Amino acid sequence: KPTIVWIRRDLRLTDHAALVAASERGGPVIPVFIRDGGVDALGAAPKWRLGLGLEYYAEVLAGLGSGLVLRSGPAREVLEDLVGETGAEAVYWMRAYDPDSVERDRRVKEALTASGVVAESFAGHVMFEPWTVETQQGQFYKVYTPFWKAVKGRTVPVPRPAPRALRAPPLWPAGERLTDWHLGDAMRRGAAVVRPYVRLGEAAAQARLAVFMRDKVDDYAQARDRVAEDGTSGLSENLSLGEISPAECWHAGLRAMQAGKAGAETFLKELVWREFAYHLMWHTPRLLTDNWRPEWDGFGWNSDERRAEVRAWKQGRTGVPFVDAGMRELYVTGRMHNRVRMVVASYLTKHLLGHWQIGQAWFEDCLIDWDPASNALGWQWSAGSGPDATPYFRVFNPVTQRERFDRHCVYVNRWIAEGRTRPSQEALSYFDAVPENWRLSPGDAYPRPVVDVKEGRARALEAYAMRAF
Ligand code: FAD
Repeated sequence: KPTIVWIRRDLRLTDHAALVAASERGGPVIPVFIRDGGVDALGAAPKWRLGLGLEYYAEVLAGLGSGLVLRSGPAREVLEDLVGETGAEAVYWMRAYDPDSVERDRRVKEALTASGVVAESFAGHVMFEPWTVETQQGQFYKVYTPFWKAVKGRTVPVPRPAPRALRAPPLWPAGERLTDWHLGDAMRRGAAVVRPYVRLGEAAAQARLAVFMRDKVDDYAQARDRVAEDGTSGLSENLSLGEISPAECWHAGLRAMQAGKAGAETFLKELVWREFAYHLMWHTPRLLTDNWRPEWDGFGWNSDERRAEVRAWKQGRTGVPFVDAGMRELYVTGRMHNRVRMVVASYLTKHLLGHWQIGQAWFEDCLIDWDPASNALGWQWSAGSGPDATPYFRVFNPVTQRERFDRHCVYVNRWIAEGRTRPSQEALSYFDAVPENWRLSPGDAYPRPVVDVKEGRARALEAYAMRAF
């Protein structure tokens, strides 16, 4: 009797507990991906990137003699139908931790179990499941450093090898065509502009990890802040869709540490930031939607998306080169350096007093490494409303940040074309990427700052002080 493996954000073969368990049952394995409301609600870039990931993953499965069935609709109904059509005895999947998925999965499990189908979920999208880490008082963690101390010595199971083959069913259930889903429709710049920056699939992710461990991890603790360099792993894109497991990255980091590579522990710590974000999201789902600290509810962030300054921020036209470079990098590559994410987020929420949710939504629309937990935590951290956040009086100065982390303006020059006699290809590609109605051209004058950097800081501090926390 077949086992259905419900594929979600786990587009890999290695360290995939659900696939392993399904193949160990001995019967045919039917991998299925369901386009439900959660998929439809994704932002433009993550949805487009998911489409690429699915196309690739279907090929990988085909290479194993298997396949990927695509169906649309509410997950419970789709799975019940599939069970009915195939006579499957079990449905397996990898656990998700965001509130909507948790609720959906609970209902699916209940319904399947009630009809006598084995419904089982497995860990793997995070290493330390949120309910397994608690303080001595039995509480969840609200601050990163004690969380790190609590998990750093734990044993993370060694990644399981990919199954060598997956038995196909005698007859494949009918599926839909990926192209009919139009996952890239809202991402007009996707294929032409962003695609060259994508590293697609498990093999690319594993290669990326190997190169990082061989060439970069030693210097990672310093290089990770030099924004013009490719000094980080770049794995967030793959981790986001589960094209590589965090445990595989963790074990590579541990081996590097044992080999005496200096930056390896810093890398493990960064992986644990991701875990921490999931921990907080699971324990306090309001991380995604509300000020984590309710005392911020009365703060006067401006939620007006149409404000000229906010439009300038999205378009990389604030007149502050470091901020603009970051916003353009985001638009063209679907990613942004972590240091610059912090700077542009501080600039929006503090210099422009824009609501962090505006930034959260814009990132959700533009990032190919979009992750609900890390994005929400990053924004609430920057705004000051998060659990473990920058204090409100810490306003990143985008000018001194540029001086420290892009000393020779390599990054800024890479992304800003206006006023340059010979702008870089990347800087020019931004103008190919933007919609026509933004009416931007590389020949435009570079804008004057929408707010003076010093005045914006003073205004932010005043507004924050008035709140008198
Ligand atoms: P590396 O430096 O190589 O780190 C290794 C891995 O550790 C990353 O791939 C990532 O999974 C994890 N990691 C590193 N830093 C963080 C962090 N601060 N928080 C959580 N996990 C981290 N990351 C996302 O994956 N998706 C997002 O949507 C996202 N939104 C962000 C929004 C804001 C405002 C900020 C400040 C940060 C955000 N981050 C997000 C975190 C971070 O910027 C990226 O994870 C990082 O830039 C990815 O690059 P990398 O893979 O080369 O990271």
